[in-house]
Amino acid sequence: MLKDNAYGHGLIEIASMAKEFGIKKAVVKNLKEALKIKDYFEKILILSDNNITTYSHTFHIVVNDIKKIYQLPENTNVHLKIDTGMHRNGISKNQLKEAIQGLSSQNLNLTGVMTHHRSADKLSCEYYWQRSEFKLIKEEVIKICEQLFLPLPMFHSCNSAALFRTANFDDDFARAGIATYGYIENDLAFDKIDLRPVLSLWGEKISTRVLKKNQAIGYGGTYKAYKNVTVSTYDIGYGDGFLRINENQHYQTPKGYKVLGRVSMDSLSLDSDDEKVCIFDDAKPLAKIHNTISYEIITTLSTELEREIK
Ligand SMILES: *Cc1c(COP(=O)(O)O)cnc(C)c1O
Repeated sequence: MLKDNAYGHGLIEIASMAKEFGIKKAVVKNLKEALKIKDYFEKILILSDNNITTYSHTFHIVVNDIKKIYQLPENTNVHLKIDTGMHRNGISKNQLKEAIQGLSSQNLNLTGVMTHHRSADKLSCEYYWQRSEFKLIKEEVIKICEQLFLPLPMFHSCNSAALFRTANFDDDFARAGIATYGYIENDLAFDKIDLRPVLSLWGEKISTRVLKKNQAIGYGGTYKAYKNVTVSTYDIGYGDGFLRINENQHYQTPKGYKVLGRVSMDSLSLDSDDEKVCIFDDAKPLAKIHNTISYEIITTLSTELEREIK
């Protein structure tokens, strides 16, 4: 799953590593992303793009709404999204026949049938009823395809959360996103899954000074030194996707340096004078501070930040 600049990790960087590891299929949000990585994969699934005007052998286009069938160029490879309860995108079960016949009449290839879980990360029965809905859909699709003498499409339904809950995996592939990058947000009640975040954000020093006792630093002077302290600014700010930290919250880097005062657009201040500082190597503590999830912390990282594979 490489959408949104590979969850902020760098589209080309992660695509080239995925290829190295023998991965042949990728998923992106739109055509723009797909074009950037078309030479890395055999198949690229495009989740939501309304402006597909030319056919590509490599690209497989998700149809999220039955009307879209009539707007795609001939021969396009299509994955039909089925709404099994999330009620966000996809056609309903009773539109299956109409949709598959529509695809045939438009000379489009049905290469996949998919759904998406709305709460696979939660300890509840929701995952199970969506899964049983999808099982019925598979059976129905197979029946329709046999009637119409169409080749069978591939089936897929699992994101990271669902994948780790699926004991008898019987789809053709999974759409693993966040877990690829070392995070999982499943309820603590589930078995612990030992994943390690792969990304760390580093800042370089811009300047250093001694902040004298009672001097305050940054916009609004919200942090006041209670003793003389050496402080430096580093070249990471909210313009780079490192969000401002609420004044009631405290954040320390992995080495224990404190963010002092407000985060500026292009810099932040730490009680450090190291030349380079790791700002974070795990998005979860930051997600907690910002009352959000790891996904948001990593996908908001600016595309302009230099990515380096170690
Ligand atoms: C983003 C996305 C995924 C991946 O979800 P993760 O929770 O990151 O594994 C899978 N399927 C669809 C349709 C998505 O939009």
